[in-house]
Amino acid sequence: MFSSPFLPLPAGLQIATTSLRDDLLVVEVVATKAGSCCPLCFCPATRCHSHYARVVADLPCAGFRVQLILHVRRFFCDHTDCIRKIFTERLPAFVLPWARLTVRLCEALQSVGFATCGELGTRLAERLAMQTSPTTILRRIMVLPTAAVEHVSELGIDDFSFRRGRKFGTILVDMQSHQTIDLLPDRTKETAAAWMSAHPEIDLVSRDRGGDYASAAASGAPQAIQCADRFHMLKNLGEALEGLLARHLAVYRTHQTQESRARPLETAQPGPPPKLRP
Ligand SMILES: [Zn+2]
Repeated sequence: MFSSPFLPLPAGLQIATTSLRDDLLVVEVVATKAGSCCPLCFCPATRCHSHYARVVADLPCAGFRVQLILHVRRFFCDHTDCIRKIFTERLPAFVLPWARLTVRLCEALQSVGFATCGELGTRLAERLAMQTSPTTILRRIMVLPTAAVEHVSELGIDDFSFRRGRKFGTILVDMQSHQTIDLLPDRTKETAAAWMSAHPEIDLVSRDRGGDYASAAASGAPQAIQCADRFHMLKNLGEALEGLLARHLAVYRTHQTQESRARPLETAQPGPPPKLRP
């Protein structure tokens, strides 16, 4: 048994054998501690019940994928008051119970996911000899705890869809940091108002031009100034301009039709478009 600076392991674990299979480095690792603590009563236990092997993926080494075969043990808990009679040896800082990846590989995939996204992250991870999938990367990111919302003075609020056209939620953005700070499970005014009432420091609410978020801000953050956000302002402006141009086009076509009917067929010529008043 030995340790290697190329594959550092926590205290109590040592390398037994290594073997290379194509691009996969298989490392057999054994636990060398005399005992382990019961996860329920935290009492040390040394009476071994049995051995078993866990297969987990680890960080790549020199371009090779790394697979660890962890030979760990089950112990008897001899504490008389503990209801756990047998437990498996835990390696909490290195690999979580039932996990198939080491903690450090999970953290690397989370970093890749944060810097890219599910699809791009998978391609990048494969180039870095980490086998994964888009859903795995997204799942690793989604298990991370969300930072608590501390102080928000300018709030942006809008709806989004969990499932397009079917289920909607509300997204809340800190307009100063441009960070998404919370997601609400629906887009009702009651839910949004309850969230805002917990943040009396809100000075400004930037929202769509619908009525629900306006009334939510009026009841949940009455001290805040409300304004329409840029996206909805431009959207409404575009729609209004489209309607205006459509009306002018209809007038122009009516005018042309009337002129062509008034003239003899052989002399009928399309007239110039009417001048639009600015
Ligand atoms: Zn115990």
